[in-house]
Amino acid sequence: MSVTVKDLKESAIQELASKIIGTVILPSDSRYDEARKVYNAMIDKRPGMIIKCLDISDVIHAVNFGRENKLTVAVRGGGHNGGGLGLVDDGMVIDLSGIKYVRVDPETKTVRAGGGNLWGEVDHATHAFGLAVPAGIISTTGVGGLTLGGGIGYLARKYGLTIDNLLEADMVLADGSFVTVSADKNPDLFWAIRGGGGNFGIITSFKFQAHPVNTVYAGPTLWPIEKVGEIMEWYDGFIHDAPEELNGFIATLVIPGPPFPENLHNKKFCGIVWCYSGELDKAHKIFEPILAKNPIFAMVGPMPYPAVQKLFDGLLPHGLQWYWRADFFDDLGPELSARHKEYGSKIPTPLSQMHLYPLSGAASRVSKDETPWAYRDAKYAGVIVGVDPDPANANKITQWTKDYWEALHPYSSGGAYLNFIMNEGQERIKASYRHNYDRLAKLKKKYDPNNFFRVNQNILPVESKSAVPVESN
Ligand SMILES: Cc1cc2nc3c(=O)[nH]c(=O)nc-3n(C[C@H](O)[C@H](O)[C@H](O)COP(=O)(O)OP(=O)(O)OC[C@H]3O[C@@H](n4cnc5c(N)ncnc54)[C@H](O)[C@@H]3O)c2cc1C
Repeated sequence: MSVTVKDLKESAIQELASKIIGTVILPSDSRYDEARKVYNAMIDKRPGMIIKCLDISDVIHAVNFGRENKLTVAVRGGGHNGGGLGLVDDGMVIDLSGIKYVRVDPETKTVRAGGGNLWGEVDHATHAFGLAVPAGIISTTGVGGLTLGGGIGYLARKYGLTIDNLLEADMVLADGSFVTVSADKNPDLFWAIRGGGGNFGIITSFKFQAHPVNTVYAGPTLWPIEKVGEIMEWYDGFIHDAPEELNGFIATLVIPGPPFPENLHNKKFCGIVWCYSGELDKAHKIFEPILAKNPIFAMVGPMPYPAVQKLFDGLLPHGLQWYWRADFFDDLGPELSARHKEYGSKIPTPLSQMHLYPLSGAASRVSKDETPWAYRDAKYAGVIVGVDPDPANANKITQWTKDYWEALHPYSSGGAYLNFIMNEGQERIKASYRHNYDRLAKLKKKYDPNNFFRVNQNILPVESKSAVPVESN
C-alpha cells in the first residue's frame, strides 16, 4: 500500500533534507512548478516531493527514504519520456538532472556520463576528440532513459544501438545498495539494464564505448507525399544493403517553415533524413543513387556530428504537446505504403510526423536474447508522433496518431520500441520484450521483489499478480 507525501511528518522530510546536498522541493516551494515540468507539455503531474540529487549519496538517501516511507517513486533523467514516466502524482520524484559530468578517455575511446546528462552534452565533449557514442537524433534527450530503453539513432547501422555500446554502469538498487555492473561484474543485472528500462535501479554513472565520428555528410531529402509508395519501395530495397556508415530514417511530415524555402511550407512530404559517417571523399558517390531519385528538395552536405544531432532541436523545443504510438515492422510493402500515403496526407499539425528507423547492420547482428531488446530481426522501428504547441489541439493530434497506428498495426511485427510509446499497459510491454520477458521478470524478483521501481514500462516481478498501475493513455 503506497503512502502519499502528504501523509508524512514534516520532521521526516526535514531529516531527509539534512542528509542530502541536493534540494527537496515541495508543492509550496516557488520552484515547484518549474521542477515538475517535463518535455511533453501534455503531462501535468503533481508529485508530493521532488528530490534534486547532486550525487550518489543523495540517490541512496532518496531511495531509502522512499522505500521506508512506502512512497511511489519516479526517477527522472532527461525528462523526455512521452508518457511522463519521470514524474508521478503525489509520490516522490528522484530527479537526476544535477548529476552531470562527461569524462572522455581518448586512449580507450570510452566515455563516462552522469545519470542526469543529456545527449547534447555527451556529443559536445566527445566531439573535441573526434568521437561519438551512438544515441538518438535529438540532443535534448536524456542519456538515462534513452540508454536503458535501447537507443536508436544515426550510428545504429554502423555501431549498434546505444545499449550495444554500454560497457559499465554504477547503480543504486531498491534496497539502497550500490553495485557496478558490466560484462564481468553482476552480469545478470548488466544484461537486464540493456533494454529493461528503469526497472532494476537508478544508474548514476554510465560508461560507453565511443567511435571515431567527426564530420558527417547529412541532411534531408524530400518528395511530395503522393510519391511515398515509390520512395518507400526504393528505400526498403536500398537502405539495408547500403554501406553501414549510411543511415537515414524515412518519414511522412509537413515542412513547418524556415529554414526551408517558402514554397515548401505547410505542404506534406515523404522525407528521408540522412547521415553518412564514413570517409567524406566517398560521400558524393554514396549519395548518387539517392539524388537520382529526384527529390524535390535536398539539403545534404558535410556538418559536424553534433550539428546533425541538433538539426531538429529548434523545431521541437520543450513545452509542446506530444502523443506517441509505435510498432516494429518487417517490411514496407504496398499495403503499408498505401496507409502511409493516406495518413501522411492527413497530418493534422505542422510538427506531427511519422518516422521509420532502419534496423540493420551492427544493430541487427546482436542476437535476440543477448540483451532484453527483442526485435533485432525487425527491419524498422516505427513511431507516429502527434505534436503541437497548442493544448487545444491535444485531441486532434492524439486521434490522428491513434488512427494512423490502428491502420498500420495489423502489418506490424507485434511489439514496439518501448521508448517510443506512452503508457499502454502490460500486454504491450510483454509483446515488446517477447521471449525475454520471463527472464526479466525473474531478475526483477531477485533485485526488486516489491516492485519499488514501478513508474516505468513496468516488468512485474515473477509471481506478482499485479503492480501498482501506471495509468494508460
Ligand atoms: C524529441 C524526442 C526525440 C527522441 N528521439 C529518440 C531517438 O532518436 N532515439 C531513441 O532511441 N529515442 C528517442 N526518444 C525517446 C527517448 O529515448 C525516451 O523518451 C526516453 O525515455 C527519454 O529518456 P529521458 O532520460 O530523457 O527521460 P525521463 O522521462 O527522464 O525517463 C524515462 C524513463 O527512464 C528512467 N530513467 C531515466 N534516467 C534514469 C537513470 N539514470 N536511472 C534509472 N532510470 C532512469 C525513468 O525512470 C523513466 O522510467 C526521443 C524522445 C523525444 C521526446
